[in-house]
Amino acid sequence: MNRFDYVKPQTIAEAVAAAAEPGAAFLGAGTNLLDLMKGGIANPNRLVDVTHLPDLAAIETAPDGSIRIGALVRNSDLAHDADFSKRFPAVAEALLSGASAQLRNAATVGGNLMQRTRCAYFTDPASTCNKRQPGAGCDAIGGENRSHAVLGWSDHCIAVHPSDFCVALTALGAIVEIAGPGGRREVPITAFYLLPGETPDRETLLSAGEMIVAVRLPADALAFSGHQRYLKVRDRTSYAFALASAAAALTFENGVISAARLALGGIAPKPWRAEAAEAALAGKAPGRQAFAAAAEIAFADAKPSGENAYKIELGKRVVARVLAMAAAGTPDRLPALPASPFAPIPESVVNV
Ligand SMILES: Cc1cc2nc3c(=O)[nH]c(=O)nc-3n(C[C@H](O)[C@H](O)[C@H](O)COP(=O)(O)OP(=O)(O)OC[C@H]3O[C@@H](n4cnc5c(N)ncnc54)[C@H](O)[C@@H]3O)c2cc1C
Ligand code: SF4
Repeated sequence: MNRFDYVKPQTIAEAVAAAAEPGAAFLGAGTNLLDLMKGGIANPNRLVDVTHLPDLAAIETAPDGSIRIGALVRNSDLAHDADFSKRFPAVAEALLSGASAQLRNAATVGGNLMQRTRCAYFTDPASTCNKRQPGAGCDAIGGENRSHAVLGWSDHCIAVHPSDFCVALTALGAIVEIAGPGGRREVPITAFYLLPGETPDRETLLSAGEMIVAVRLPADALAFSGHQRYLKVRDRTSYAFALASAAAALTFENGVISAARLALGGIAPKPWRAEAAEAALAGKAPGRQAFAAAAEIAFADAKPSGENAYKIELGKRVVARVLAMAAAGTPDRLPALPASPFAPIPESVVNV
């Protein structure tokens, strides 16, 4: 590991100033960053430890019902907050389907949003990787790429975004609050992440010194609390990243779908909002036909980036199933095995 400075700012302004130096990185719980440093993948010359900053570890409800989650809230604390999980159950389910209990107890909200891809070539310093070293090439193209992207990829990078949490946040229209050298700004999460194009090293809108201070779930997302779920298919039933996942949220009027929210994970370089599929669901009766049609639309532009054509069919099935789960209604309690494809769905919903 390279030598680096460690600084522990006491205010957001100090943190931003310390991180504006070239080569600096914010440190949350370190569950991702420290691994990358030990492997020689990340080589910051300064770590700006934000975990002691005041006022960033709260979950606050505004009078309009929107919820503001501080960047230092731990993943487990958010998922197990009774009020939060009742209002945004798909977000809690997504969080609890990620990593392990120990990791969730440590990992911060800000760190989860900023975690790096799990492309095996990215984490192997002996491989070429445009994300690590712009212009070097991409060993995943033509290599072992069964877990790579089928939507949004480019000839320069085919990696997927690994977060579960961010998929549910994307479905529900979360806003990212940012503090930086130029002051504060807010960005919808759908615009926060960048597609790889020719610059896969640039993953988000954040500039040097900018840090995430909070994530907000807007009040209009509350309309979906009664019908929202997250579903994740992976190689193991727990402690594995998604091969394909989806968050779905529905509202109903007179037995038909009045509004739909849908986002996909494990299939694209960023959490993928499926707006055309959402529009197609509005006004439809819930059931197999409408859900299968929405799944086709969600994957209409999908193309294999290697040996991963299976993800297109898998992803469609995940979408159809998560929509059926959401239509059946949010369970009274978080499922014992969150986001599991083995959860039963009432026949009445599947077979409508
Ligand atoms: C074995 C293992 C399995 C996992 N499985 C899953 C899984 O199934 N699903 C899933 O979603 N995740 C999974 N994870 C990832 C885990 O969720 C992340 O490691 C964690 O959320 C990162 O949070 P952290 O606070 O430790 O971030 P850190 O490791 O401290 O930081 C991660 C990145 O975020 C930056 N950063 C941190 N805080 C801020 C901030 N406030 N503003 C701007 N930048 C910031 C850091 O500079 C760094 O680049 C897994 C991790 C491991 C190790
Ligand atoms: S897919 Fe992206 S992250 Fe993986 S090796 Fe290629 S450029 Fe690097």
